[in-house]
Order: sequence, then C-alpha cells, then structure tokens
Amino acid sequence: MLSQRVRELPESATLAMARKATELKQKGVDIISMSLGEPDFGAPEFLKEAAIQAIHEGHSHYPPVPGYLDLRETICEKLKRDNNLEYSANEVVVSTGAKQSIANLILATINPGDEVILPAPFWVSYYDVIKFAGGVPVILNTDISTHFKITVEQLRDAFSSKTKLFLFSNPCNPSGSVYSEGELRELAKEFVKYPEVMIVSDEIYEYITFNEQNFSIGSIPELKKNVITINGLSKAYAVTGWRLGYLAAPEEIAKACSKIQSQFTSGANAITQRVAVAALKAGKEKVSYMRETFLKRRDHLISEIAKNIPVMKTNVPDGAFYLFPDVSAFLKGKISNTNDLCQYLLEKAHVAATPGEAFGCPRNIRLSYALNEQQISEAVNRMAQALKEL
Ligand code: PMP
Ligand code: GLU
Repeated sequence: MLSQRVRELPESATLAMARKATELKQKGVDIISMSLGEPDFGAPEFLKEAAIQAIHEGHSHYPPVPGYLDLRETICEKLKRDNNLEYSANEVVVSTGAKQSIANLILATINPGDEVILPAPFWVSYYDVIKFAGGVPVILNTDISTHFKITVEQLRDAFSSKTKLFLFSNPCNPSGSVYSEGELRELAKEFVKYPEVMIVSDEIYEYITFNEQNFSIGSIPELKKNVITINGLSKAYAVTGWRLGYLAAPEEIAKACSKIQSQFTSGANAITQRVAVAALKAGKEKVSYMRETFLKRRDHLISEIAKNIPVMKTNVPDGAFYLFPDVSAFLKGKISNTNDLCQYLLEKAHVAATPGEAFGCPRNIRLSYALNEQQISEAVNRMAQALKEL
C-alpha cells in the first residue's frame, strides 16, 4: 500500500525519542527529557501581544505563498543588520518552520544521484530529506578532538562532478560547535573553486552563541551568489510550536521553493507571520536572557558530568543548547551502539537522550540542556547510577 519513498523514510530520530519520552511520562514515569531540541522558556510577552493583536486585526485569510511582503522586507533588514547579508524581498521565502525551508530547498535543487556534502554530525532531517529526494549524502566525519569541525583538506577531497550542495548548521545541532569567521574564510577559498555548488548555511541557533558573534558565510562577497541562508523563530524566540522559518536565496531558487510550497502548504500561518515582524524588528536584545541562562546551564552540565561520569568525554560547545559527549567507553557487552545506550538510559535512568547514530556520529549522544540546573543535576546523577551498573 505505502510508497517505496515513504517506506524508506525513517521517523525523525529527535522526534521519535521525544515521542517515547512523552509516552512514558503519560504513563506516570518521571522522565527527564534531554532529547528534544527546544527551549524550555515560554514565548516572550511582547510576542504573545503581537499574536493577539494580529488576531484582532483580522489576519485570518491566506497570506501570499512566500510570506507577507513587509515580513520579507523585515527579514532583509534583519539579515543586513545582524549578518551583513544583502537580500531583497523577492529572494526570501517564509515557511512553516525552517524544517520546511530545508525540505523545499532540497526538493527544489536535488535530482536523483546528486551529491550533498554533509559534515557529520549533521542535523537528522538533512540526511533523511536528501535521501527522500533521491540525493546522495557525502559524509565528512569529525570527532570531539577537533570540536566536530571539518578541515579544509576534507572539504577539498569531497567535491565531485555530482556535488550540488554543501549543507551545515552553524552553530551546529547536535555538537554546538561554531565555525569562526577565520575558519569560514578558509573553507570559502575552496568553495570559490566550485561556483556551481551551493552552500546552505542553517543559522537557526544564531542568537544562542557564547563567544564571538555568529559570522554568516554568505557575507563573504565572492560567495554571495552561492549561499542560501536559513533561519527561523523557533530557537531564538522560544516559539517552536508557532512554526516559522525562512530562507534567503538567489531569486531562481527562492521562486522554485515558493512554487513547491504553493502545492504543499501555501503561505505560513498568518498570525505567526505578524509575530515574526515584531520579533525580527526587536532583534536579539529582548531574548538575551535565554542565551545567558543557557550558558550557565552548559557549564553546570559539563561540571556535573566531570564530577559524576568522568569517563564520559564532553565537548565545550560555543553555541546552541546541546552537549555531544563521546560515550564510546560504554559501548560494550549488551550495549552495542548508542541506540541501545539511549534505550537503556531511558528505561533504567528515566533520562531521554538522542543517539548519535542519527546525526552520523556513532560514538556520541546528544544531551539537550534546555532544563533547569536542578533537573540537569538529577539527570546526571541518574545516568551515573545506571552507567555504573553496566
Ligand atoms: N535546523 C536545525 C539545525 C534544527 O535544529 C531545527 C530544529 N528545530 C530546524 C532546522 C528546524 O526548526 P523549525 O522547523 O522549528 O524552524
Ligand atoms: N530540531 C529539534 C531537534 O533537533 C526539534 C526536533 C525536530 O525538529 O526534529 O531536536
């Protein structure tokens, strides 16, 4: 009955683990969820007010497929202000979450057999949607020793006559690593040799960085025509359920994404689009408390793991709200991979974590620290106890 295409498509690993955790919670099990990547903060008050105002103003009709013009103009102002990127409104498409922007883009550009270079760890949906479109992911492996960043040599070796896209998130989900301006400029020297290859820069964690400001690879003038920038409200403004993402791309690609969207979903939710105008005009100042809180939690989680589970090797991420520790010391006996390990931690410690396999890194697990410090301590204690029993 089902299509080949859907039979080969796995459920999103992040959402699958979140589902399992919710099912157990509903049965009354006291689960601490470190699996789902979403801020635990409520929506900021000024955005709730913008949503209510949008309802009263009567925004109840179909919005234009690529998004309201004033929102697209506001996105262009934001990209100029924060990222030094020059786009015009006809190069922007607003979607139902950055997830849809990514899916639109992949479906708009990938023919069966086309290659997409993916540094691992990669966000789960990149890999699965590329496969769904018939594309071939070309994985560049990294590990904790290099902060999960690729080298120029790795990139140089990955190009082929079939390469269509290079796709990465910066800051990275799941490692939290952030490529600096200098590192991106070094990679750019390779990209300029392949003007037919598009670079997709997913900057959805842009406002959650702990050191220098995020640098957008699209602001390097030689690459301007080759970069597609993706962003959205979910993480920056803690409104994952309001579903708003966008991409900025050369007009031909933006138009193609809009055409796909016109067949699948139409324009994104009108109320959320009005909220987005308020959010993007306000910028990052009104939500800087989230970044400060995440930084404290990051340090707390790292120190709790160092004290209680010293064999778990942790990275020190510069952004997002994930830790991506190397757990290879525990992959032995009845635990043969990180899927087994996460299942064990869920059943034994009642802590939900996401297996690294799904992100292309089978030695690691992802721990989201979008939790308060007390919950973080409790989760680490529970994991420490369970891991001792292995
Ligand atoms: N990109 C990355 C790297 C993500 O972690 C996520 C998950 N939120 C998304 C895109 C999709 O975000 P959304 O659809 O909620 O805008
Ligand atoms: N992006 C988040 C995560 O990585 C939310 C889940 C999803 O969109 O797949 O967990």
